[in-house]
Amino acid sequence: AAKRKGRAAYQFASALMNEAAIDRLQIETSLRRAIEQQALRLEYQPLVHLASGRIVGAEALCRWDDPERGAVPPGLFIPIAEDCGLIEALGGWVLKTAALQLRAWHDAGHTELMMAVNLSARQFQRGVVLQQVEDALVTSGIAPDRLELELTETVLLHDGDAVMATLRRLKALGTKLSMDDFGTGYSSLAYLRRFKFDKIKIDRSFVCDLIDDPDNAAIVRGIISLAQSLGLSVLAEGVETDAIAQRLKHLQCTFAQGYLFDRPLRPEDFGARLGTP
Ligand code: C2E
Ligand code: MG
Ligand code: MG
Ligand code: MG
Repeated sequence: AAKRKGRAAYQFASALMNEAAIDRLQIETSLRRAIEQQALRLEYQPLVHLASGRIVGAEALCRWDDPERGAVPPGLFIPIAEDCGLIEALGGWVLKTAALQLRAWHDAGHTELMMAVNLSARQFQRGVVLQQVEDALVTSGIAPDRLELELTETVLLHDGDAVMATLRRLKALGTKLSMDDFGTGYSSLAYLRRFKFDKIKIDRSFVCDLIDDPDNAAIVRGIISLAQSLGLSVLAEGVETDAIAQRLKHLQCTFAQGYLFDRPLRPEDFGARLGTP
């Protein structure tokens, strides 16, 4: 009986695995089509200056509304795009679209606004990202220092020299570098200096229970003072309550982002939020 049960469990597990593999293949196929047909879109989440409450920038976040699956979260489709070689095309489209959107807001008089774009480690592997950033800057005509590239620590784990060279050239173009999800990865402090990052984004996981968890409070405090002493600017992700925003302000965190202020917005809604300059 035990043996039979074992075999049944095995067959069940392997059926599940098959299903997962098939599902993934289908997602890959639909995603490829969505990229080709430009069926992806971007939402923009306000980046807020805590002391004044002013919107200083936007983070571009990729959205995919699949006709059959509905909204597929980027946490699901970005890793798939990375694995099946679609991330370069997707990433190039994101850079160009976000830069053109920023140009439109600049032209509407919001001249100080900056745009943050997420880059995956995979986009660095063949160095195409440098050309894509240059193209986005040329096409849009935005100043390079208005574009902030968000990288996670995993980028720095890949082929050190090649990544290093690309990051140097991105800095030479004048773009800003931001360390995303800080505290969740390897967080080598030496990297922050070596790669000349401009900003640290404190990961949401530390921010969300800043009030109740003394350990997280200590981590957040530590990251803010680290940023200050390295001359980096600092933003807290995932700010959902006013109490957290107040505490962050008290801790001298300069920037924040989160549902308390705004969810990621469609471009027209972001424009409405900006109001008249
Ligand atoms: P991320 O870069 O850390 O982006 C912030 C994520 O936190 C976004 O999730 C945003 O919607 C969410 N968020 C913002 N404020 C709050 C809050 O107050 N509470 C909570 N619970 N969540 C909040 P989203 O849009 O699902 O994106 C997830 C991740 O997917 C991003 O994390 C980023 O790593 C990746 N991603 C999204 N768009 C792109 C893209 O165009 N290219 C690349 N390479 N990655 C992307
Ligand atoms: Mg990000
Ligand atoms: Mg983040
Ligand atoms: Mg994150």
